[in-house]
Amino acid sequence: MKLSDKIAAHDPSQPFYTFEFFPPRTDQGFENLVSRISRLATLNPLAISVTWGAGGSTKDRSLELASLTQGDYHLDTLLHLTCTNMEQGLVDEVLKAVRDRGIQNILALRGDPPRGEEEWIPSDPRFTHAVDLVSYISASPEYSSDFCVGVAAYPDGHTESTTDEDKEIDYLKAKVDAGSDFIITQLFYDVDQFLRWLAKIRSKGITVPVIPGIMPIQTYASFVRLTKLCGTRVPACITEDLAPISHDDQLVKDYGVKLAVQMIRRLRLEGGIQGFHFCTLNLEKSVQRVLETLRWAGDTPGTMEPPAEMGPPDLLI
Ligand code: FAD
Repeated sequence: MKLSDKIAAHDPSQPFYTFEFFPPRTDQGFENLVSRISRLATLNPLAISVTWGAGGSTKDRSLELASLTQGDYHLDTLLHLTCTNMEQGLVDEVLKAVRDRGIQNILALRGDPPRGEEEWIPSDPRFTHAVDLVSYISASPEYSSDFCVGVAAYPDGHTESTTDEDKEIDYLKAKVDAGSDFIITQLFYDVDQFLRWLAKIRSKGITVPVIPGIMPIQTYASFVRLTKLCGTRVPACITEDLAPISHDDQLVKDYGVKLAVQMIRRLRLEGGIQGFHFCTLNLEKSVQRVLETLRWAGDTPGTMEPPAEMGPPDLLI
């Protein structure tokens, strides 16, 4: 089913969430991930998302995983698709393969430069920005009725950006105007900045659902690496909280769960956010703990959620 239809049909007072996975390189890793997904499926995600490896490096594995989640596990699947290394004809090949597998949701991205390359160079001149892929799908008589299309956005700014926030928001609006049905954001930790950005994009007429990317911190090393890679702002209080526990993986994970819960509560209360996109890093425990703490896991998600506890970040652990 299309995510746009699912979101429209979802009780607006109830939260929803999606889980993002990347296809593992080895057969064993793939098998382990599939068992993990089947367990996480019991938490009733609205959809599963499957990433498209940098430069299309995981094309076959991404398609295999997405076919499995959609076809065998009957989980509505959102396949990420990038323009990187898409030689002429490959976009059609992939879209047809995806459609044949019953997948109706595409996250249309430009993609990063292939590994080891600094600059992003289009392989097919028709696809130089994500907006081109959105238009290609949404304006095409061949595909428009088959797919619901989402796009990415960057509340902390895009790492490559050479322009200001207003221009970035214009580019985002162009993606929505081209036919995107929803927005998933890059992971972030600065909720104040997100809420400011959200108010700004709303004021500029972007009305589609915005689904914030939430990544519960798993280890200190991965947190530092990923926030640097994505150009994520890290509030000073988080850096200060993590400093004394950075050597203890369990304490970092516990902190990550509590921080994610606190962020989600604020985003719901102050931003009216309904849906959340969990960057799982292919791990299940932290996401499960976040949903259990929020009391969203189960048959009637959200109904048992206790009042928000808005303690200062230093009370998180
Ligand atoms: P665009 O929207 O095209 O933006 C790219 C750059 O071009 C930006 O700096 C923007 O300012 C500029 N720009 C945009 N439109 C225009 C225009 N019309 N004219 C001039 N300049 C313009 N990458 C992967 O390889 N695989 C994945 O599976 C994947 N999943 C992701 C999921 C999410 C939720 C997010 C947030 C990112 C994901 N990425 C993934 C990373 C993404 O591909 C990169 O961040 C990429 O550099 C930008 O992609 P985009 O779709 O946002 O590009």
